[in-house]
Amino acid sequence: MMQQFEVIVIGGGFGGMYAVHSLRKAGRKVRGIEAGPRLGGVWYWNKYPGARVDLPSVDYSYAFDDAIQQEWDWTEQFAAQPELLRYIDFVDKKLSISSEFDFNTTVTDALWDPGQKNWIITTKTDNKYQAKYCVFATGPISYPKVPRIDGLDDFKGQIIYSSRWPDCDPDFTKSAVGVIGTGSTGIQIIQSLGPIAKELYVFQRTPSFSMPMRNVKLTTSYMKEVKKHYSGIRDAAWNSAVGGTRPQTTRSFYSLTPEQRQQLLEASWEQGGLAMLGAFRDVLTNKSVNDAVADFVRSKIDEVVDNPEVAEALKPRGYPIFARRPCLDTGYYETYNLPNVHLIDCLKDPIRTISDTAVVNDSGRETQLDYLILATGFDALTGAMTHININGSDGRNLKDVWNDGAYSFLGTMVSGFPNLFMTAGPNGPSVLANLIHTNEVDVDWIVGAIQTAERKGMQCVTVKKACEDEWMSRVHDLTLGSLIPQAKTWWTNSNIPGKKEGLTMFIGGFLEYRKALERAAGQDYKNSLLME
Ligand code: NAP
Repeated sequence: MMQQFEVIVIGGGFGGMYAVHSLRKAGRKVRGIEAGPRLGGVWYWNKYPGARVDLPSVDYSYAFDDAIQQEWDWTEQFAAQPELLRYIDFVDKKLSISSEFDFNTTVTDALWDPGQKNWIITTKTDNKYQAKYCVFATGPISYPKVPRIDGLDDFKGQIIYSSRWPDCDPDFTKSAVGVIGTGSTGIQIIQSLGPIAKELYVFQRTPSFSMPMRNVKLTTSYMKEVKKHYSGIRDAAWNSAVGGTRPQTTRSFYSLTPEQRQQLLEASWEQGGLAMLGAFRDVLTNKSVNDAVADFVRSKIDEVVDNPEVAEALKPRGYPIFARRPCLDTGYYETYNLPNVHLIDCLKDPIRTISDTAVVNDSGRETQLDYLILATGFDALTGAMTHININGSDGRNLKDVWNDGAYSFLGTMVSGFPNLFMTAGPNGPSVLANLIHTNEVDVDWIVGAIQTAERKGMQCVTVKKACEDEWMSRVHDLTLGSLIPQAKTWWTNSNIPGKKEGLTMFIGGFLEYRKALERAAGQDYKNSLLME
C-alpha cells in the first residue's frame, strides 16, 4: 500500500519531533516515521543505568515555544534519561506530535523518482510512502557500532548493548558484569553499576578524560528565576559557540602567571561541567597548553584513585585532551576504589576472544561473566543514513557518494539528492553544539526552503554544487588549525573499520553556523539553492 504525503520525516527524536510540528504548522501534509515504539530517539534507546545529558537541562531544551519553557520545570541541572523522556512526553502532550508518527517502523529504502519528482520510502515490512520531500532526522549518534570481537556470538551469558538497553534493568546484584567501552556511555554505566554489581569488570582500551559533572537539584525558586530570564538565556545560546550559556574565554594560557593558571584549573575542576574547556582559548590549538591541562586532569586521577597502578592505567595519554569527546562524571574515578570493581587494561593486555562464559585476554586471563555490556559506541554522523539505501538523481547512492567522507552543505543537504534534507547532519556543528538548538535552526531553515519552493510552485530543490564545495572547504580548512583530528575517535570516524577517516564536523561554532544558514537562506534561498 502506498501512502502519500508532502513530507516524510524519518526519526522521532528532538529533531524529528520539531520537524513534524513545524511542517504541520506550515500547512504541509507530513508524516513521521520512527523505528522505536515512541518518541524520544536516543533518549528512548539509551536507557542504560546512569544515562543523563551532560549539557545543562535549561540549555538542552526546546526554545521555540515559550509556553513549553514557562510550564516545564527541570529538577536537575543535568537531567537523567527518565526526566528527558518525561519532558518529551510533556512536549508531545502540549503539541500532539506522536499522532503524526508511525512507530515501530524501520525505513530500509528511500529512492528518488526523477519522473514523478518525489521520494519513495520503503519500510522493513514493505510498506511504502510517497512524498515530495524527505527529511532525515535520524540523529548523529544513533546507529550502534557492533564491535568486531572474536567469539562474541558464542557468549552464553547475556550481552547488552548500551544503546539497546532492555526495558527492565537486569538484577546485577548477584552477578559478574563486564563492561567493554569507556567513552561517555561506559563511564555513566560503570559509575552506576560499580556500587551495585556483585563484581564489575571494566575492559578499558582507550581511557577518556573525565571531569566532575557536579550535578545539582534545581529548586522551584531557581526555575522561577530561569523562567524570568529565558529570553536572555536563549539569546546567549544563539550567539555562542556551543548553543548554550557556557562561558567562553578570550584569555590565552600564557597570558597568565603559572600561579594564576593553576588557580584557574582548580577553580574549573571545582566548578565542574565543561568549565575547563572554556578556561583557555588556546587549549585546542596550542599543544603545550593542551598538555598542561591534560597533566592537571591526570594529577586529579592520582588524587582520587587509591591504587597507583589503577590510577596510571586510567590516565589518558597519547592524544590531546578535548580532542576525544570530554566526559562528565559523578564519582567515576572513585568507583575504582571499590573492592568489587576491577580494571582490565586492554591496551596492555588486549581482548583476544570471548568464550561461552568469559572474556579472554591475550595473557590468557579469563574473566567469567554473567552479563557483558557493550558500550562500544556508534557508527556516528553518517551511519543512520548510510544503513538506509538512499538513491538520489541518476540513481546515485548516498553510501557511495560518502565513501570518501561525508560531503554536504551545512549538514542539511547533499548535491545530487533533490528535496532531501537532514537535521544535525555531518559537516554541521552537530555534536559539538547543543543538539536541540542545532535541530531547531536546521528545521527552521528546511521548512523555510520547502515553503519557498511551494510558494513559487517549484518541483525540485537542490543545493548549488559551488556552495556545497565552498562550505566543505571551510569545514576542512578549520580542522587544519585544530588538535581535534589528532585523536582517533568517532569524531574523526576512526572507530569504524573501513570508514574514511577525517573530521566531518563544522568546528567554527554554533553562531558562525547560524550566520551561514542565514546567508544561505538569503534572497529566497537563491544564495544557495536551485529551485526548478
Ligand atoms: P564512544 O565514545 O565511541 O566509546 C566507545 C568505547 O568503546 C571506547 O572506549 C572504545 O575504545 C570502546 N570500544 C569500541 N570497540 C571496542 C573493541 N572492539 N574492543 C574494546 N573496546 C572497544 O561511544 P559512547 O561512549 O557511546 O559515546 C558516544 C557519544 O554519545 C559520546 O561521545 C557523546 O557525544 C554521546 N553521549 C552523550 C552522553 C551524555 O550527554 N551524557 C552520554 C553518552 C553518550 P577505543 O576508543 O579504544 O576504540
